[in-house]
Amino acid sequence: MKIKNAKVWTGGKALEQRDIGIEGARFVDPAKLDPRTDVIDAEGLTILPGLINAHVHFCLDGSNDSVPRLISEAHLTTAYRAAAAAEDTLRAGTTTVRDVGCSGAIGIYLKKAIDAGFVRGPRMLASGPCIVMTGGHNRFIGVEVDGVEEARKAARLNLKMGADLIKVVATGGVITSGVEPEHVQLSALEMKAAVDEAHNCGKHAASHAQGEQGIANSLDAGVDTIEHGIYLTPLLIEKMLKQGSVLVPTLTPMRRILLSSGEDKLPDYAVEKMRRTSEPWLESFRKAIAAGIPIVAGTDAGTPGNPHGSVAVEVKFMVEAGMSEELALKSATSVAAEAIGLGGKIGQIREGYVADLIFIRGNPLDDIHTLDNLCGVMKDGEMIWFNPGARDGLISKGWIDPALP
Ligand SMILES: [Zn+2]
Repeated sequence: MKIKNAKVWTGGKALEQRDIGIEGARFVDPAKLDPRTDVIDAEGLTILPGLINAHVHFCLDGSNDSVPRLISEAHLTTAYRAAAAAEDTLRAGTTTVRDVGCSGAIGIYLKKAIDAGFVRGPRMLASGPCIVMTGGHNRFIGVEVDGVEEARKAARLNLKMGADLIKVVATGGVITSGVEPEHVQLSALEMKAAVDEAHNCGKHAASHAQGEQGIANSLDAGVDTIEHGIYLTPLLIEKMLKQGSVLVPTLTPMRRILLSSGEDKLPDYAVEKMRRTSEPWLESFRKAIAAGIPIVAGTDAGTPGNPHGSVAVEVKFMVEAGMSEELALKSATSVAAEAIGLGGKIGQIREGYVADLIFIRGNPLDDIHTLDNLCGVMKDGEMIWFNPGARDGLISKGWIDPALP
């Protein structure tokens, strides 16, 4: 297939006018295509690499009561809902996700079903259940452990099931009642046992780490990505730079909760914790940008009031919070691909890379909000949908949130 007349963002400072060649699942040199190949005219559209969301929870549905719903519903209902969330995510232009905490085996088996081709969804990396302390944050999408050997065992069980990465929980968090973001949960040694198991088989480890000591413990344990990182200090930033750690700030849930009206009936404890942490959260994000820490987009979709769909909400908010358009786009494409271990395969429009792309109307380097003007999605060289005038339909389906500027 050839896409002609496209303006393409290949990762630089400006759009380039060029054709794109696709053969099977990969980008190829358009000059080498069979002259009888299908041609799509993308006149007036901009093409970007398919977007990557490094932090979602498909088992949580993103409704205001997503946590009690998950706890009370049948496991199989959760699985079907997770599959529907995956399809919505792909159609909204996110072609790769990292699911960092799901109920039981659902996330890993959803990934296998997508890979096998009988469920429609983004390319998935799945951690399986988070590894948490007894009574810890995210226990409803986690497995509770105490001590080094239990943590190691939990990591091995997840890896045996097929986990692509290991997720540990270093601190309390916002969406679990009765735990605090500033409080330490798993110890550095417990996390290190789990992280070592991931690294031993060439996989990554992500840590839910919000408070200062929990972030320090996570770095001591050797995790690859710090999720949230609300209370970063200069010392922690220095350590992250030295270890090559990545920050996945997940600003979206904070913004959604802060923008919600009282009528939304989000849990009071979550609203209170978000209000308390929003300023240090944004400050840490800005400090990380200034220090040059690699930053990757993740929406934490599924958490209360935070529905599944496009990662563009996070990219837009990153720009509003001080990141350049170019860097924010990279945080959901090339930088994200490197951070999740898929560098050289996805995240760029380059010969030999997997043909994941999106069509939009407008230039996101000038106006990041044009990411909302989604006109088509391709994953693995397969056109999922293409409709140059599709914007209104997307809003009505909730894939684009018109309330966010
Ligand atoms: Zn999360």
